[in-house]
Amino acid sequence: MIATRDRTAWLAGGNARCAVPARRQSQPKRLVLLGAPGVGKGTQAELLCERLGACHLSTGDVFRAARCGGSREPGPAMMAALEYMRRGDLVPDEIVLNMVRDRTRCLRCQGGFLLDGFPRTVTQAESLARILGAQNVALEAVLSYELPLEEVVSRLSGRRACPDCKASFHVVALPPRVVGECDHCGGKLYQREDDQPDAIRVRLQVYEKSTAPLTDFYRREGLLVVISAADSPEETFRRTLVALNGKAQAT
Ligand code: AMP
Repeated sequence: MIATRDRTAWLAGGNARCAVPARRQSQPKRLVLLGAPGVGKGTQAELLCERLGACHLSTGDVFRAARCGGSREPGPAMMAALEYMRRGDLVPDEIVLNMVRDRTRCLRCQGGFLLDGFPRTVTQAESLARILGAQNVALEAVLSYELPLEEVVSRLSGRRACPDCKASFHVVALPPRVVGECDHCGGKLYQREDDQPDAIRVRLQVYEKSTAPLTDFYRREGLLVVISAADSPEETFRRTLVALNGKAQAT
């Protein structure tokens, strides 16, 4: 498994700093990853971060970190956010945007970044453009991973996660060696609350309504790169690198 980079500044927000800062990149990559839940964005983000030296900035991870406790008691806005998340609904834009603004420093990171799960609405995308503009940084590309709907449902409902090392498995496609047990650390695998059938249905409806229009938004901006996620993670990663290369040469 890929060693996870220190993301303290992103996960904790505010004045928190990463103990091991990202290495300075001569041309830091700044990317957004789009795609329905379950297309494998998280896996691609990890592979890309490893290759590009960029930091994986997932808004869903911030909410999950807050839910799992730590030293800080979640405030009222975070408590409300966690309730939306539990139902599979989108957290209101204002809460998400305040959370991202509180982490603006991560968008200036000298290693670059990969935004995963943000933006999720056109309002969030417009605000992101303003936040980045104020920091004098620009997105290089928006990678949109595509997969047929029935495959999305099957991937989500079979997904199992390790609460300790965050490794991800699938009951059919990537089963652990011992049923219910993490191959890496022996943790007891669980099914995310928002991967339960009712929540999956809500998440996919929400995606179609709120997030799918983002592809048009970024196509108009000339940033969109569409990538098929129908094959293995390795093949999807290969396609991603080819697409990124093509984009870099075209600009
Ligand atoms: P994810 O891990 O990206 O699938 O996010 C898990 C859940 O967190 C989502 O189903 C939403 O409830 C919430 N969430 C994460 N990012 C956002 C966002 N940018 N806007 C609204 N809700 C979000």
